[in-house]
Amino acid sequence: MKYIGAHVSAAGGVENCPVNAAAIGATAFALFTKNQRQWAAKPLTTESIDLFKARCEEHNFKPAQILPHDSYLINLGHPEEAPLEKSRNAFLDEMQRCEQLGLTLLNFHPGSHLKKIPIETSMDRIAESINMVLDKTQTVTAVIENTAGQGSNIGFEFDQIAYIIERVEDKNRVGVCIDTCHTFTSGYPLKTYEEFSATFAKFENIIGFKYLCGMHINDSKPECGSHVDRHESIGLGKIGKDLFSFIMKDQRFDNIPLILETPNSDIWSDEIATLQAIANSG
Ligand SMILES: [Zn+2]
Ligand SMILES: [Zn+2]
Repeated sequence: MKYIGAHVSAAGGVENCPVNAAAIGATAFALFTKNQRQWAAKPLTTESIDLFKARCEEHNFKPAQILPHDSYLINLGHPEEAPLEKSRNAFLDEMQRCEQLGLTLLNFHPGSHLKKIPIETSMDRIAESINMVLDKTQTVTAVIENTAGQGSNIGFEFDQIAYIIERVEDKNRVGVCIDTCHTFTSGYPLKTYEEFSATFAKFENIIGFKYLCGMHINDSKPECGSHVDRHESIGLGKIGKDLFSFIMKDQRFDNIPLILETPNSDIWSDEIATLQAIANSG
């Protein structure tokens, strides 16, 4: 079963997300549980939590079909103590919000060394951050997203993600989200079937499909290896539409949220319908 959706708006409250997702024919969705550009957030109200749960049930969204994304401000590998602690506290708050909503995944970008500490030191901090937060929560899996490697962002090589996972104590609550645009622009080719096969064979060898908890399915504006993070609508970018057919027809991508973060939300329902039709065909 393929769960296909998009990162939908939480304007007016998280309880609107399942409605927004159902309106575009999605069987999965992503959301921010708080404003992604601010540190502080009001706690979720009981009313909002109850409505969110009721609407997920009404529209048939199970926790495994929902991939919350954390705030862009959080840097779990920060070189300085005070901002690192601020990030860890904010990440814990995000994990707890997910638990309150009955959700089991939280997708995040690993972090940045900001050119002030060695990359290994920063990756050690990221792993330590994950351990600290998993210690204080019970049910949510920390889902590391691969990055394009823009600036000093960590996580653009499968080896870096494997390095972090290796240092996480509870392997049952750490996972990976692979963003196709980030994979491509970080230097892994994905256009042809041979390239797709080789890239995901590397993924299997270095990280392992058992850790794959979700995908961001985006085409890419920039070329392979550019290390620039710019998403494009499916089939309109430098990857092209074939990759998305390969994914839809491959059982290794079953039963996890496959999330569009493509720029034109007006065509999300068309993109979902097209991908679903390919998945159903074979
Ligand atoms: Zn992404
Ligand atoms: Zn991106």
